[in-house]
Amino acid sequence: MPWTSSAPRVLLRQLREVMARPGVGQAKQEEIQARLDRIVRLIAANMVAEVCSIYVRLADGSFELYATEGLRKEAVHTTHMKQGEGLVGLVARSGEHVNLPDAQSHPAFSYRPETGEEIYQSFLGMPIIRGGRTIGVLTVQNAIARAYSEEEVEVLQTIAMVTAEMMSNLLESLNVATAEARRGQSQTIKGITMSDGIALGHIVLHEPRVSIAKLFAEDVNAEQVRLDAALGQLRETVDAMFSDGEIARAGEHRDVLEAYRMFAHDQGWMKRLHEAVAAGLTAEAAVERVQSNQRARTMRQSDPFWRERLHDLDDLANRLLRLLTGRSATAAGTDLPRDTILVARTMGPAELLDYDRKRVRGLVLADGGASSHVAIVAKALGIPAIGYARDVLEEVDPGDPAVLDAESGVFHVRPSLEVIRAYADKARFRARRQAQYEKLRDTPAVTKDGLRVALHVNAGLLVDLPHLTQSGADGIGLYRTELEFMVSSTFPRIAQQTDMYKKIIRGAGAKPVTFRSLDVGGDKILPYLQSIPEENPALGWRAIRIALDRPGLFRTQIRALLSASAGRELRLMLPFVTQVSEFVEARKLIDKDLAHLRRHGRPGPSKIALGAMIEVPAILWQLDEILCRVDFISVGSNDLLQFIFAADRSNNRVSGRFDVLSPPALRVLRHIVVQAEKHKVPVTLCGEMAGRPLEALALIGLGFQSISMAPASVGPVKAMILAVSAAEIQRYLLDLVDHGREDIRDRLKDFARAHDIPL
Ligand code: PEP
Ligand code: MG
Repeated sequence: MPWTSSAPRVLLRQLREVMARPGVGQAKQEEIQARLDRIVRLIAANMVAEVCSIYVRLADGSFELYATEGLRKEAVHTTHMKQGEGLVGLVARSGEHVNLPDAQSHPAFSYRPETGEEIYQSFLGMPIIRGGRTIGVLTVQNAIARAYSEEEVEVLQTIAMVTAEMMSNLLESLNVATAEARRGQSQTIKGITMSDGIALGHIVLHEPRVSIAKLFAEDVNAEQVRLDAALGQLRETVDAMFSDGEIARAGEHRDVLEAYRMFAHDQGWMKRLHEAVAAGLTAEAAVERVQSNQRARTMRQSDPFWRERLHDLDDLANRLLRLLTGRSATAAGTDLPRDTILVARTMGPAELLDYDRKRVRGLVLADGGASSHVAIVAKALGIPAIGYARDVLEEVDPGDPAVLDAESGVFHVRPSLEVIRAYADKARFRARRQAQYEKLRDTPAVTKDGLRVALHVNAGLLVDLPHLTQSGADGIGLYRTELEFMVSSTFPRIAQQTDMYKKIIRGAGAKPVTFRSLDVGGDKILPYLQSIPEENPALGWRAIRIALDRPGLFRTQIRALLSASAGRELRLMLPFVTQVSEFVEARKLIDKDLAHLRRHGRPGPSKIALGAMIEVPAILWQLDEILCRVDFISVGSNDLLQFIFAADRSNNRVSGRFDVLSPPALRVLRHIVVQAEKHKVPVTLCGEMAGRPLEALALIGLGFQSISMAPASVGPVKAMILAVSAAEIQRYLLDLVDHGREDIRDRLKDFARAHDIPL
């Protein structure tokens, strides 16, 4: 097969002409058919192939011969290959080309007498891929046995890509496997809960896919210039991610950013893009073409690492496409449906805050775990969310109806009517329950035997404040000050901080707010703060350790808190205290700032209550010493238990391996309560477990009289408290703990059932 370097360009030009020529007087269907017929004729002639055929995927996954040059005409619309059948099925299933000198001896070959193809020995099949899905197969065949050259394969890839774009325009009205046809096919995707709740709505891609309007270059040189400019911009944005600290903030996505940088500077990638433009494609069509080629190549790799990297390269290619087409990077500023379910590969906390809360009903991330920062923000905003939904982007199309069950971590895409009905019922039930909780809003949380339990909320953003009143909580038990720092692009100055804390205090009205000093470091990195990568960030330079090593930062925050609390009590707790001396040192710094304030005659707080968080195991053996120095303690059970069980809270593989309702965890917590009572120091617990009614029931049993949780949990936990007798659950639970029972969770459920306690 002779093939000259100008041939692809000639063929592309001819294809363009086919597409541009209007079908005079023809019905749409006939016009489509005529164009496909002309396309196969052109390809066959240009590639000196005796046969060129186009198979189109139907909604049921089978393939129909739609157009052919060389096979018998009566086979058109007659020959069907079932899903996965024949060489066509093989191409479709693998998503990559199949190049065979002797096709008929291949085990997948399926002989169709109506086509007359028995005389053709060599076969080259190419998937026609659009939006990551195979919508058809393009084949060429020759009578002689020959392997098609690399160059011929590349050319057919380009043509397949062009054909994909044409087909999606042309075949919309037909019953083919475009996004339209996928609409009927339900999918269930599993993930893990980041923020509880149920959402019914329609899918919006956080980073919209770009569809290519123009395939053929009018002026190849001008296209090369456009491509170069966009590549330059892309490299700049990727490099900026490294210099402005996004890489450090990225935490578990760090390797994604590293991969971005590697690809953005990859010479081979750029060369392939330029070659595709030289062949006659527009810059954006070249990106699409090179990407689908890359996809096919990577899919052949069995190493999951490289398959994972394909996602990264897909993201990068999409960024490049958006730069070329001028489309906005995210859907945040666009016209969103009122029932938006956002789908993204990853998302930062600030990006979620860019969206109109009233329109976003749910969030689904392919990456991102339960304790990622975007999860904290989703929870704060009350948006049901799941993470780790691995293949979600490959399975959805914008506008698809969907049901997100973040309670069980399941995402139903294009669900059946029954599923929608079932969830609509569930959502109504939840709303009714919520209404019942609202009725309890002003009822104090008192157990049946008269014990008043203080229920507080965890917060960290100004947007959380309305939840305090809405939930009827007694106050803010944990204000994670670092969240506002994390969503800010520069370090908030003292005046800004003072203003922010004033707003929080004012927003809380008469209710107390317990601020926590900056808990940054580890994976909570501030984009504007230099950080050194650490092997084990959770055990690294974080929280009070940074505060004491960099007192300037800490004291700025303290001064802001002191001024903002003028005339009232300032409640402040210190995170990650490991040794008593750290607490003592921090207190000295606070006293200095208080003295400084007084010296300058500025108003300060009427009183300071200074507490320590109990979240590092070492402090458990210094409870006597720390308890005589603090005004209160707060158990950070998320951190404390991850260290006790040696199980990283942000690693989904291990975070669920231990049960918080097991003797070791409950004995530690009981010990803390007993020691605090001995020293008459108020104790509270503000980890995630406080917000789950069954775990909260255990906490009451252990003797906690104050707990702090996500606002949405206050209602369910209060309903549980109103139905329980503290003395009874204490007797029951402590007996189980003393006996080291391993089925405490089940026993507690039995107890709740027997006593009609809602969980
Ligand atoms: C904890 O560790 O339990 C806690 C409340 O703090 P954070 O989740 O912010 O680390
Ligand atoms: Mg903590």
